[in-house]
Amino acid sequence: MKYRILMAAALLLTACGSPADVTPPGGPGAQDVSAEQIARDVLIIDTHVDVPYRLRESPDDISERTEGGHFDFPRAVEGGLNAPFMSIYVPSKYEDNGARAVADELIDLVEQFQNDWPDKFAVATSPDQLLEHKDKGLISLPMGMENASPMEGDLKNLHHFFDRGIRYITLTHDRCNHIGDSSYDKERIWHGLSPFGEELVQEMNRIGMMVDITHVSDETFYAVMEISKAPVIASHSSCREFTPDFERNMNDDMILKLAGGGGVIMINFGSAFLDGAAQKQTWGYWDAWKEYSEANGGEMKHGGMDGFKEQYWTEHEKITGDVGTIADHIDHVVALVGIDHVGIGSDFDGIGTLPKGMENVTGYPNLVRELLSRDYSREEIEKVLSGNILRVWRQVEQISGEIRTGEQS
Ligand SMILES: [Zn+2]
Repeated sequence: MKYRILMAAALLLTACGSPADVTPPGGPGAQDVSAEQIARDVLIIDTHVDVPYRLRESPDDISERTEGGHFDFPRAVEGGLNAPFMSIYVPSKYEDNGARAVADELIDLVEQFQNDWPDKFAVATSPDQLLEHKDKGLISLPMGMENASPMEGDLKNLHHFFDRGIRYITLTHDRCNHIGDSSYDKERIWHGLSPFGEELVQEMNRIGMMVDITHVSDETFYAVMEISKAPVIASHSSCREFTPDFERNMNDDMILKLAGGGGVIMINFGSAFLDGAAQKQTWGYWDAWKEYSEANGGEMKHGGMDGFKEQYWTEHEKITGDVGTIADHIDHVVALVGIDHVGIGSDFDGIGTLPKGMENVTGYPNLVRELLSRDYSREEIEKVLSGNILRVWRQVEQISGEIRTGEQS
């Protein structure tokens, strides 16, 4: 079990990105200008950015350019990013151990961004606010909760977090919890949703909270799809087609089911989520780390690896992929279910290795350029960058209204 968790941790391995450095094919010609222009003009929503937890662990001033991490205000502006969903990420170890308090602390932190820098950031709780903030030159901070442990078995907590601005909840993280099973956890508890998990999904539909199936096991995904009356999202998942046997990503049948319900898969940018070879390499790294750790007296914390990490990566050439690797996943979803069911959920600040040209939030224009080169129209690109998730968010609100109206009649 522990080793499994370590492997899961590999995907969350923190590392600093270096600035995007991609020369457009053929130099800065007309196509490049339009890529930059599209990234600037179009609303860009990224549904998963882990900056709150990054700052909880290591405080920093994200109103200025930061040395570490993938996100800050100047780089977001440079990349054309308008609305990064702030991940209210509660690690699995807090299940039964103060999860609600951790979530509240992280929401306080996001509110503090807005209070400290009101000319730069604004918390957002509705699709319309994202558009209003863009017009004002503000970066919107909508919030999504990663791991439903803070529900603590009581629907009152769902209402509490909705009132605090949370607009999607990822049902599990890397361990099974009292809601459902995690794809990373070998020991499954529920083989679907728990009885409370079923109630939770229904109540999320009722109040207009998006249901996020990222991280859950396949069985839990199908159980959610049975119950949810509203479209469902995967806030930061990629296609299993490229990473065989990696349950954390979605297989084709699941993507078809998700799209059939009107939902959207937001592609995770982590190299190990995109490319099977990169993923194998990550597992290889953790095998080597485990060996090293055991040879040096057992359990070693990642932070105290004694130069092991640096040494390893000087001896092995890292497989990263590039923006084309991200576009391959977008292509795959489009080929399966059309242009209306795919978006972007980078996992910036929550992952280590990223593709060339997408090392941090300055990279979105490079993805736009890649999509243009693959003959995506501006309208199609806009759907990927924000249109699809906006449509789902609005539908979730609308269905909530219909459920409540039905209750009154
Ligand atoms: Zn995650």
